[in-house]
This record gives sequence, structure tokens and C-alpha cells, in this order.
Amino acid sequence: MNYSNIQTEDPALYEILKREEQRQKEGIELIASENYVSRAVLEAMGSVLTNKYSEGYPGKRYYGGNAIVDEAENLAIARAKELFGAEHVNVQPLSGSPANLAVYMALLNPGDKVLGFSLDQGGHLSHGHPLNFSGKLYTIIPYFLHKEDEVIDMDEVEAIAVREKPKMILAGFSAYSRSLDWQRFRAIADKVGAFLFADIAHIAGLIAGKQLENPVPICDVVSTTTHKTLRGPRGAMIMCKEQFAAAINKTVFPGVQGGPHDHITAAKAVAYGEALKPEFQDYAKQVIKNAQALAAALQQKGYRIVSGGTENHLMLVDSFGSKGITGKEAETALDKAGISINKNMIPYDPRKPLDPSGIRIGTPALTTRGCREADMQAVADLMDEALASRTDETRLAAIKEKVKTFSLRFPVPGIE
Ligand SMILES: *Cc1c(COP(=O)(O)O)cnc(C)c1O
Repeated sequence: MNYSNIQTEDPALYEILKREEQRQKEGIELIASENYVSRAVLEAMGSVLTNKYSEGYPGKRYYGGNAIVDEAENLAIARAKELFGAEHVNVQPLSGSPANLAVYMALLNPGDKVLGFSLDQGGHLSHGHPLNFSGKLYTIIPYFLHKEDEVIDMDEVEAIAVREKPKMILAGFSAYSRSLDWQRFRAIADKVGAFLFADIAHIAGLIAGKQLENPVPICDVVSTTTHKTLRGPRGAMIMCKEQFAAAINKTVFPGVQGGPHDHITAAKAVAYGEALKPEFQDYAKQVIKNAQALAAALQQKGYRIVSGGTENHLMLVDSFGSKGITGKEAETALDKAGISINKNMIPYDPRKPLDPSGIRIGTPALTTRGCREADMQAVADLMDEALASRTDETRLAAIKEKVKTFSLRFPVPGIE
């Protein structure tokens, strides 16, 4: 992207874009939900498909002129089916939260009971936060981690399900470093007659890259964002068994949304095409290897990793428990050093959400830039140095220079 037209027609925005490009190039990106898309995905997002209105679905639109858009949407659907072995796919959800709203609306009535992973232990806002539609419209019953090993206690999930008889069980997370036992969730859902809904927003790329077990054949409905490990445009999709296809399509449109974003649909098709290539499996494998190398390097330096390690792309670091550094202090210091992370509650956190005990970090973005295990040692060194120097602005500025030198060795795909 050279932005030459923005440069001449809108210098103010051009300058903002250039500074953000520079930030992305010079910083270490460890936010577990972020990634860098390819140039091809960027080009699709910047295409003229944004000019089109196509309410409805391929072959059944409420506007004319959609024959070509239909081809783009059908391409995205066919590739998603191939990638995940899905019976039915809806690629129109604008993002993860509206996708989840559509799933709730398709399977439940307001007030129905939903079993979901406790938000302060790793669940997502759309899994029952009191200010989110999910918490306002549905009766959310949380399940928790086992306090000792910090792994989801499936026996407790079963006991709660038997006691509460939820209409839907939601399996998925934004901050959990262990694999989910999909078959056990299936067995529990069957035992109590609940729908099983998996939200794989964080791990979709690791599943598509064949490194984690695929829940799509096991669950009734699966939603995912497309912009995290899957490395596509910001957006989402819903996959389901054929029996739920009509209900899901109806709640996405006209239930929740109007016209789909066809340029984003096209970019999803491009990203799914990339994920179908064998190289994407190497990428997914390296993401996990890097996360495990980073966890080990931080543990070596005395940081406690929640649950003792990671089986996916992310981990929670108990910075307060191991070093007396709160999540907020860590986020601020690392930010000053050019390292992006987010503060995060740890399970059974004694502290408050705005200044919790930990941070969440992940390796999808750095792995896209080509970092490998040895580079994770360097990242851990830089993090530890910044955290140890958290009250020393001069030191933090010097570390930021080192972070820049490190980062510039690894090109960002969309930036010259
Ligand atoms: C990121 C995420 C979402 C929501 O995605 P948005 O696109 O930000 O709305 C939903 N569920 C889970 C588990 C997520 O991690």
C-alpha cells in the first residue's frame, strides 16, 4: 500500500497512517488477538467490492448486480468448508460479537440458560458480561478453572450442567492457554440435552493449520473471528450442522445485520485460500513452538505462567504474584519500551480488572514476521529488562531503541 492518493487528497490522514505503519514496524507485538495480514488480504479489503449492496445470500439478493459478488461469497464459503470440514458456513458476520449474537438468537430465547466459561478466568465479553447483550438477555451460568492446576474442571462443568440444565453450552475463550476437551463437552451437552456452541475466535488459525483438534465436526455451531490467528480481515463467520443452517442465516440477516461487507468477504476468501496452503500449517506449528519457547524463557526469569505453560498461541503471566508488578504497571512500562501487551486478570485474581495481577501475551503476530524460538529468548530478555526498569524513563527509552533494532529485522507483510 503506498497511499499515494491519500497523500495528495488527505495529508492529515496520510500522516496518521504513516505513523501507525512506523509503530507497527518498530514495535514488538505480543497482543494475543492481533496479527498482520498479507498484502493480498489488504488489497481485497481495499477493493471496489465496498461499493456494493448485497443484502441476502448468493442467488437470493434484495439488490441487483450481485452475480459477481455471489461468486466472491461462494468462493469464501467453499474455502471455509474445505478448511474446517463444515456442513454450512455463513461468512457475513461483521465481527465476533455480532456473530455470537446471531448464534444466541438462532438457538435460544431471551432468558434461556447458557453455560459459559467465567469471564474473569478467560471467557469473552460476549459469553455473558453484564453490560453485553449476552449478560443482559440470557441467564449465564459460569464454569470455572480448577484452582490448583488452573485447567477447566470438566467434572465440575458436568456437575453444573446436570444441576442447571442449560439450553446451550458455550466452549471458548480469549485468555486460556490449554486445549479444550471438545468430546467431553459434546458428551455433557448430549447428557443434558443442550446445544453445543464453540467460539474458536482465538484459535481458528491453529485449527485450520491442523495443530489443534477441530471442533467443527463435534459441535452444533462454531463461531470464529477471522482476524486473529486465522490472519484474515477483521470479521467473523459461523459454521454449523446443516440442521441449523436456515436458523443461522436468518438471524445473521435480517436478524442482526443489513448488507454484508463484500470487500471483507473477498478478503476472507483470500485469507482462507492462504490458510489452505501447506505453509500455513508450518505457520501454525511455529506459533505454538514460539509461545512455548517464550513461556519457558519467562519462567527461567522467575515469572509464573498461569497453568504452568501453554498448548496454544497465548499465555497469562502472573506478574504480580511472581515479581510484585501489577498488570497495569507492566502494560505501561512495556508500552514505553515499544512492546504491546494487555493487562489481564489471572484466575482467582485477588486484584481488580483495571489493575489486575497479570498480563496476556501471544505469538501470532511475531510468528507472521518470521520470528522463531531463539528470537523468543530475545523478546523475554527485552520484556524482563523493561519490567525491571519500569520506573526509569531513560532506561525505558533506551530499551525502546533495542526493541526497534530487533523488530526491524523482521518485515511486516503489508508495509514496505
Ligand atoms: C475476540 C473474540 C470475540 C469477538 O470478536 P470482535 O470481533 O472483537 O467482536 C468473540 N469471542 C472470543 C472468544 C474472542 O476472543
